[in-house]
Amino acid sequence: MAPRDGRAGLYVCGITPYDATHMGHAATYVAFDLLNRVWRDGGFTVEYVQNVTDVDDPLLERANATGVDWRELAASQTELFRTDMTALNVLAPNHYVGATEAVEWIVPAVERLVERGLAYRVPAGTGQDGEPAPAGDVYFDVDAAGRLRADDPDAWVVGSTCRLDRDEMMPLFADHGGDPDRTGKRDALDPLLWRVERPGEPSWDGGTLGRGRPGWHIECTVIALKYLPTPFTVQGGGSDLAFPHHDMGAGHAYALSHEPMAEHYVHTAMVGLDGEKMSKSKGNLVLVSSLRAQGVDPAAIRLAILSNHYRTDWFWTDELLELSQRRLARWREAASKGETAGAQPLLEAVRAALAEDLDAPAALIAVDAWAARNLGGAAARGPEASAQDTELARAGIEALLGIEL
Ligand SMILES: [Zn+2]
Repeated sequence: MAPRDGRAGLYVCGITPYDATHMGHAATYVAFDLLNRVWRDGGFTVEYVQNVTDVDDPLLERANATGVDWRELAASQTELFRTDMTALNVLAPNHYVGATEAVEWIVPAVERLVERGLAYRVPAGTGQDGEPAPAGDVYFDVDAAGRLRADDPDAWVVGSTCRLDRDEMMPLFADHGGDPDRTGKRDALDPLLWRVERPGEPSWDGGTLGRGRPGWHIECTVIALKYLPTPFTVQGGGSDLAFPHHDMGAGHAYALSHEPMAEHYVHTAMVGLDGEKMSKSKGNLVLVSSLRAQGVDPAAIRLAILSNHYRTDWFWTDELLELSQRRLARWREAASKGETAGAQPLLEAVRAALAEDLDAPAALIAVDAWAARNLGGAAARGPEASAQDTELARAGIEALLGIEL
């Protein structure tokens, strides 16, 4: 994940603002915050872009079900998300862009794909759930896009960014917003680019596409291409975004720019609760805002997240939170000693751990060792203990791990 020429580009898919901010979200944004901090510590200039999917089927469904205007729901949940991120000490992206702000850039991109024969309109028929669907919805032609540049080793074909075969992709497509059963599509895997207006749904002027709203993948692609030169360093998100979202987004980007979208596709593992999958339907989402309302220190929440490697599925438990609170208290007690020792080796150990695929758990163990030494009395601290060491350790832990002591 090394950036080039002193610059790093990072695009992390943002939330659909209707159930912010559950622990899975928090773990994802803390993981990419760690990457951002490591790059900055290494002297790179980081350009970080994130979207917010502020118009989408799940958001509209939630708004209808609760009788709240979808714009109000999106605005309030986006605000809550940003407050949670600030509390967790996640550095803000340079550009934070709503899908509704990007429609004017998305329309010409979809029009270009239609003109080039890489996207097509489907006739009236039935949608995924058998409901009537009007004529004019625009779909991306994965087959045509996959044959664009046979001579280019970096050319996109469906599944190339996630290395899945068709049998693996089909169920994921249906589970993650795809509509394989929509009639009139050339390939069941073709993703939606533009959904023409339906009664009671928000819509925007779509130029030659007609009024409607954008599909999910093209939203991220267009926002990313607007702000980041391709290929940018890392396209990130939760592991449930690997397919179809990131792969189709990469396909859109290649079709528009003839360049790969990103050099690396990085995915964070799932977070469960007490041994179970965490999900809306189970009603067991752990929300950062609820924990904060109970008086939990957000630094302890961040520490609990960092005690797990970003690529390994893990579970939120009360025990983990208690351990993290105790750990934070020990670190703070150590940092409160006027004179401490071992800041330089501590920072070297933290940097070395994070350089190994962001091994945050190993970095925390290095801080534990530093804290133990400095809580072990004058003999353990040694004669070289100094106030400057304390300041260096405090600043380094804040800069690299985002934990304020
Ligand atoms: Zn995205």
